[in-house]
Amino acid sequence: MTLLGDAAHLMPPLGAGANLAMLDGAELAESLAAGPGEPDEIVRAFEERMWARAGTWAKITEAGLERLVSPDPAEALAFFDEVQPS
Ligand SMILES: Cc1cc2nc3c(=O)[nH]c(=O)nc-3n(C[C@H](O)[C@H](O)[C@H](O)COP(=O)(O)OP(=O)(O)OC[C@H]3O[C@@H](n4cnc5c(N)ncnc54)[C@H](O)[C@@H]3O)c2cc1C
Repeated sequence: MTLLGDAAHLMPPLGAGANLAMLDGAELAESLAAGPGEPDEIVRAFEERMWARAGTWAKITEAGLERLVSPDPAEALAFFDEVQPS
C-alpha cells in the first residue's frame, strides 16, 4: 500500500499539486510494469523518489504560500493573480 498526490504531499495551490499527482501515478505504474523486483521493493523505491521530489516542490512553493495566506486579502488576491493569471 502507498499514497500518492495530495494524500501523500499536500501542496499550496500554486501550480504544482496536480502535476505532481499525475507524475506520481505515471511513475509508479511505469516502475511496477518495468520491474524487476518484488512489488513492495518497487513501491518503497518509488516512495523515496516521490518524497525527494515533493520536498523540493514544498520548498519552492513555501514562500508563495506565505504571500497567498497574507492577512491582507488584497495582497493575497494580487499574488494569486500574479501566479495564476486568468
Ligand atoms: C484553488 C486551487 C488551485 C489549484 N491550482 C493548481 C494548478 O494550477 N496546477 C496544479 O498542478 N495543481 C493545482 N492545484 C492542486 C491540485 O488541485 C491538487 O494537487 C490535485 O487535485 C491533487 O490530486 P489528487 O488526485 O492527489 O487528489 P484529489 O484531486 O483531491 O482527488 C482525490 C479524490 O478522492 C476522493 N475521495 C476522498 N475520500 C474518498 C473516499 N473515502 N472514498 C472514495 N473517494 C474519496 C475525492 O472526492 C477526490 O475526488 C490547485 C488546488 C487548489 C485548491
